[in-house]
Amino acid sequence: MHLAPPVDSRTLRTRVLETGLTVVGGGLAGVCAAITAARAGASVVLVQDRPVLGGNASSEVRLWVLGATSHLGNNNRWSREGGLIDELLVENLWRNPEGNPLLFDVLLLEKVRAEPNLTLLLNTAIHEVVKDGEAITAVRGFNAQDSTVYEIRSPLFCDASGDGVVGFLAGAAFRMGAEAKEEFDEGLAPDAAYGELLGHTIYFYSKDAGRPVTFVPPAFALQDITAIPRWKNIKAGDMGSRFWWLEYGGRHDTVHDTEAIKWELWKVVYGVWNHIKNSGQFPEAANLTLEWVGTVPGKRESRRFEGPVILTQRDVVEARTWDDAVAFGGWSLDLHPADGVYSARPGCNQFHARRPYQIPYRCLFSRNIPNLFLAGRIISVSHVAFSSTRVMATCAHGGQAVGMAAARCLREGLRPADLLAAPRMAALQADLLRSGQHLPGLCYRDAEDLVTQGRLTASSTLRLARLEADDGRESLDTPRGQWLPLAVGPVPRITVRIDAPEGGDLRIELRAGTSPDDFTPSVILASTTRRLAPGLDQAVEIDLAFVNDVPRYGLLALFGTPGMAVQTTAQRITGLVSVARKGEKAVSSTGAQVGPPGSGVESFEFWTPSRRPAGRNLALAFQPALNAFAVEQVRDGIDRPTDAVHAWVADPADPAPTLTVAWDTPRTLHRIDLGFDADYDHPLESVLMGHPERMMPFTVATWNLRTADGTLVAEGRDQHLSRVSIILPTPVTTDHLILTCGPTHGGAPASVFLLRAW
Ligand SMILES: Cc1cc2nc3c(=O)[nH]c(=O)nc-3n(C[C@H](O)[C@H](O)[C@H](O)COP(=O)(O)OP(=O)(O)OC[C@H]3O[C@@H](n4cnc5c(N)ncnc54)[C@H](O)[C@@H]3O)c2cc1C
Repeated sequence: MHLAPPVDSRTLRTRVLETGLTVVGGGLAGVCAAITAARAGASVVLVQDRPVLGGNASSEVRLWVLGATSHLGNNNRWSREGGLIDELLVENLWRNPEGNPLLFDVLLLEKVRAEPNLTLLLNTAIHEVVKDGEAITAVRGFNAQDSTVYEIRSPLFCDASGDGVVGFLAGAAFRMGAEAKEEFDEGLAPDAAYGELLGHTIYFYSKDAGRPVTFVPPAFALQDITAIPRWKNIKAGDMGSRFWWLEYGGRHDTVHDTEAIKWELWKVVYGVWNHIKNSGQFPEAANLTLEWVGTVPGKRESRRFEGPVILTQRDVVEARTWDDAVAFGGWSLDLHPADGVYSARPGCNQFHARRPYQIPYRCLFSRNIPNLFLAGRIISVSHVAFSSTRVMATCAHGGQAVGMAAARCLREGLRPADLLAAPRMAALQADLLRSGQHLPGLCYRDAEDLVTQGRLTASSTLRLARLEADDGRESLDTPRGQWLPLAVGPVPRITVRIDAPEGGDLRIELRAGTSPDDFTPSVILASTTRRLAPGLDQAVEIDLAFVNDVPRYGLLALFGTPGMAVQTTAQRITGLVSVARKGEKAVSSTGAQVGPPGSGVESFEFWTPSRRPAGRNLALAFQPALNAFAVEQVRDGIDRPTDAVHAWVADPADPAPTLTVAWDTPRTLHRIDLGFDADYDHPLESVLMGHPERMMPFTVATWNLRTADGTLVAEGRDQHLSRVSIILPTPVTTDHLILTCGPTHGGAPASVFLLRAW
């Protein structure tokens, strides 16, 4: 028994931790920064003030993770971010295709716990910073669960806390609110009437109880639903992220007024539920009960800290390139009226750039605190640019860049700004690319990669002569198209199969974007119009007589007469996707974006895919066959479709698709990296929405690596991730490395984006 006699006072227990990198904030930015740094060899402490990880993506808030793929609603093809966030989202799909938020929490906890270099402090709120001169030397936090004060000392810190508690306390330069239009020449900069900050939101989940359920609202629930001008948008079955527009607080101090904002949001949420249950307008809600209401508001915007560069609207819209590009974004410029749910204006204003944009490293560290990295929604961007960079996959991708940079700084005894020197920046970018981070416009080159030193052959390579028509048809009342990888030289003659019961004109265009990562098809390379007689199943052969001068994707676009349909195929192939000139309601796009005068936003069409099981390829025949899937692409330094497929694709008839690297003299292998096709085009909303498949149809499900005498080097089963990195427990010396692929999950021919060895 412990007896504690009276004393004057006591102090809390204090624990001191020494580490290389301290990451404050366990949202996706902080989690990805911490794991990436730990995997790269740094010792890391990750501090999170709440009981689970994920921040706004956790089961406490329940936002679905999105990024450049944007619900498939823009023209950013194959733009899922890559690296660790891809691993997390693809693994979540495998384990949790239904989007259960609790399972996403568990996945993040498991991944953090798996890192031996990483110490996780949950329930610990940082509230104090210790400095020596301009640099931070320690942070202090309190954990009410174990009644302990933690002091974490390190040479480097990363603020990923959303509100920027570390930067704020340390005296880092920051901004809050919106810049005037003139400061950065930003046409979308809001005026005072629109307001300067995005507000918080609280979600709720409902479920069918199987019998009628009554609801007695709390006294503080909103009484008059018409106080919400958009109240007619309320639907009985909607919940979670579909109520993103229940937003409030944009006219307040979104840091210090958060508790008051939360009460207002609870008032709104219970008022909305009261309306659903008790207004008599939703008989279909009789059996519905509230299953969960958020207790932690999702925060959109507060402080943005200043780095050496502030990214602006023009950088996003024009996709400016940077020597220090380390991440990218692709969500729309997505501003909301500050009055949120009480505004009569549309809940958001989304304007897309025509392609993904780079994010420079200089946005990811403080301009005046020399050892402070920035990650997540607080990075150095203008209010308008923030409206795009703030989404979680983009935050996570920037977090990965910070984690990798921090590990390099620690290895070399450097501070964040020191990595700007050209050779160091190239080395950081190479670290990132090697780990799977996609950086538009950059390519991985490594003379030490042994695969680049060998002879590379394949058991077969797809030459695509035909995408076989089956019984699928898509109406050409909406223009439709197929993105095709085009080599330099004459474009093949292409045959489409058209049903034209009434006959009429079929216009065919070959279109392209303006650069390798640009899938906004605004450039018409060639066109022709064919007059079709009435009749079904007509083979229309098209000779566009176009000679392609650079490798690129071309959109074969079909504009029919009403009543026409184009035949489709169930065949899926890496690097092929069909699209239609249509909008996607979830990202408030129609079939085209019209940039308002003076907005600085471009006008262009959206040609977007449909989600599987829809989104079938067009049934096409090519003469000569499309030759775009060559084996050399597994070592060309780009690991997804951009200006070419950048993958080897086997012939579908090949019973054992095999890649072989042969060396004149034996090489000793320590590490082998493989990249498979987990469909970078597919957005992976982490919660609520659900997905029809647990693994991507293009991913090779089983594979093995052997030497020439058949010795097994490594193998994979149930492969579902896009990347595998094999560290060989015992180095293997061989003059042949043979990768054999089993079938893919969805019947697509085997494909490989990369094979590297050291
Ligand atoms: C309603 C709403 C809808 C949105 N819709 C989407 C969407 O559909 N898709 C999308 O991708 N993004 C969406 N966003 C944006 C996105 O959620 C945020 O911009 C993103 O979560 C920011 O990531 P972060 O890691 O910087 O911050 P957070 O996710 O907020 O994580 C920060 C973490 O730091 C912790 N923390 C804070 N202070 C401390 C402290 N003192 N000590 C220790 N830990 C601390 C917090 O608890 C939190 O877990 C939406 C945001 C809101 C609010």
